[in-house]
Amino acid sequence: MQNKRLFFLIIFLLLIVFCNTQEIQFNKVDQNTKLNEGPYVFWGDGDATIKYILNDNVVTQDIAVSGEGIFSFKLEGLEGNFEIASFQPEIYPSSFSDISKFFVISDIHGQFDRMVELLKNNRIIDANLDWAWGNGHLIILGDVFDRGDKVTECLWLIHKLEMQANDWSGKVHYLLGNHEIMVLQNELQYVNEKYKKTAELMNMSLGEIYSPNSEFGRWLRTKHTIIKLNDVLFVHAGIHPKLSYYNYNYQAVNNSIRNNIDSTKDKIKYNELLNFLFGNDGPLWYRGYFMDTKTSHQIKQDELLHLLGEMGVNKIVVGHTIQDFINPFFKDNVIPVDTNIQTGNKGEALLYENGIYYRVKANTDREQLIFK
Ligand code: ZN
Repeated sequence: MQNKRLFFLIIFLLLIVFCNTQEIQFNKVDQNTKLNEGPYVFWGDGDATIKYILNDNVVTQDIAVSGEGIFSFKLEGLEGNFEIASFQPEIYPSSFSDISKFFVISDIHGQFDRMVELLKNNRIIDANLDWAWGNGHLIILGDVFDRGDKVTECLWLIHKLEMQANDWSGKVHYLLGNHEIMVLQNELQYVNEKYKKTAELMNMSLGEIYSPNSEFGRWLRTKHTIIKLNDVLFVHAGIHPKLSYYNYNYQAVNNSIRNNIDSTKDKIKYNELLNFLFGNDGPLWYRGYFMDTKTSHQIKQDELLHLLGEMGVNKIVVGHTIQDFINPFFKDNVIPVDTNIQTGNKGEALLYENGIYYRVKANTDREQLIFK
């Protein structure tokens, strides 16, 4: 009896130590493990320079890029096949109608494995991580960056799927979140240690790694903040009723944010509209749809309906504020989808197919959302 108790006590203590170690490792780089990371592509005149890190060493490789085309390359020590297009990435329209199916995943925060699990088990991608959803629309609702340590893997996958989906008349919409903007503006509060080490080894700031002449940087700078599919609006955080005062539609929001990512802090601060768009009440940060959040303004039902009416939609899908599961509220006008993927072992996605909405899990369980 005594021995049995001791045995369980030891197991219990070991579990505590194990769990704590897991927690501690979440945002740390193991100093004894050599870093393999990248690749990062930088565009020059008629050529591209690829930089990546192999066993803590920066490897630089130039590739000649002649004419307009898609170039594929593999790199020693890094998994996967990488594809880049020599032409400028396209800015997609921000509104689509007659879409028969869409899948929304939000706030991935570098949790590549969880993202793959959700996409693969729900057959958006196949076993080779290639596009398998025909003419479906995949919406990545912002905040791929920060916290986790597989941001680059996430970016390359989304980048590839976007090109592949186009071939099937499908689309991948990667919307900007507050963490995309922070990294592009070289704000490092939430950056995983791994990427600080990467920047240090490459002798560049993170802002330079994602500069407009980098592949990721120029691609991210084509992205929208708000899109509309059928009668549904998608935005990372939420839209403050104040937007109506500015008489600004979502296309104007998209252009203003895109055109000012590289504006100085002062320019944004002293321009009332830009200050709003990039600030706490703007579409990348606003939390006023949710109770119990620090917000300058808790939105009211009539304000929300007015806003949705102005935008010509009857639902809005948002991420950014963590929920236990996908559960529409505000008389089903708001569908929140940030379900804590950032932990690495949680998180759901929203699926719309044949006129029906589902919350889907990584294990393929799906539950129809019943609207009242
Ligand atoms: Zn966010």
